[in-house]
Amino acid sequence: MENVDLSKEGLVGWLEENDEQRVKALLDSAYNIKAKNIGTKVFLRGLIELSNKCSKNCCYCGIRNANKSVARYELSEEQVLDAALFAWKANYGSLVLQAGERTSLAYVKKVTHLVQQIKHLSNGELGITLSLGEQESDVYKEWFDAGAHRYLLRIESSNPDLFAKIHPRDGHHSWERRLKAILDLKDIGYQTGTGVMIGMPYQTSEDLADDLLFMKNIGIHMVGMGPYLKHSQTPMGELYNEEPNLELSLKMVALLRHLMPRINIAATTAMQVIDKYGREKAIMAGANIIMPNMTITEVRKEYQIYENKPGIEDDAAISKGKLEENLRTQGIEIGWMEWGDSKAFGDSLQMKNK
Ligand code: SAH
Ligand code: SF4
Repeated sequence: MENVDLSKEGLVGWLEENDEQRVKALLDSAYNIKAKNIGTKVFLRGLIELSNKCSKNCCYCGIRNANKSVARYELSEEQVLDAALFAWKANYGSLVLQAGERTSLAYVKKVTHLVQQIKHLSNGELGITLSLGEQESDVYKEWFDAGAHRYLLRIESSNPDLFAKIHPRDGHHSWERRLKAILDLKDIGYQTGTGVMIGMPYQTSEDLADDLLFMKNIGIHMVGMGPYLKHSQTPMGELYNEEPNLELSLKMVALLRHLMPRINIAATTAMQVIDKYGREKAIMAGANIIMPNMTITEVRKEYQIYENKPGIEDDAAISKGKLEENLRTQGIEIGWMEWGDSKAFGDSLQMKNK
């Protein structure tokens, strides 16, 4: 498709576009841009939800500290290593360790040790992505030196006013602090990912257009973004009842692919919550990463950042089987045992070495 206007006004126009044919043309065009720049393979990151303990209180999130009805868990080292071994044997190539945010020294050391052990057990073959919230830059450095090479930390919204509305004003949830953490990660040398929630209360099309331009301006390497989903045991879930809109998320993915042809873009689980084939549709709209859940069944139901999370009764093997079947049906090829690094990250290293 020619002439996709990627100015702020152009982006807003697309986000508000209702004409089915035009939206379809935009999504198809994003797929073609992906195919031309980074190929059509989908890369997998096995997701291990290490722990639902969290010191924060983000107003949208089901495992926020103040939600007393959540049974808190923390996987043992053995459980994490078992899951890592499963990922390695399943040829996933790469995994993500995600958890609530904690900063104690004991916890930091535990993560360092886990990263080292996972590297060791897989002969250095498994790529490791962390998604463990805001940390001091020396902590990020310690985990990087231990072997983690990618980090995901969403800005949630590039608009500081909106960020302030969806977080408590208690001095522990600052937009500036979040931005600094993202920039620290980039400086240390991580392939750095960010993202936003789409369709939040108070959020406008202008905000979403700004989110896309923010990602481009800071030169992010990876993006994971998806629909905001209500969790009733949260302040936001109690107050608002927005219907999630998959098409808006697909348009965000497609526009971002136009803006940043060589980055990694995830087809997120939240998209699968509102549509059984949501992730596959995102792949067809320009995304190239899927994060199958590998958390053991016993604790899955306790890691509900939003409601109706799919597959909470499944184990890693069932999740894997279902995903492969879905992708096969849609004719989507998987890059087995490949790290699937962000091409944009490789480009930025080349620029530095010149
Ligand atoms: N504690 C870490 C990682 C776990 S939360 C962190 O906050 O970075 C990971 C992501 O889940 C968050 O960045 C947020 O964008 C998303 N999330 C939380 N609650 C959500 C909800 N109700 N709907 C959609 N996404 C949500
Ligand atoms: Fe904790 Fe992350 Fe949820 Fe915020 S979004 S409450 S930091 S798990």
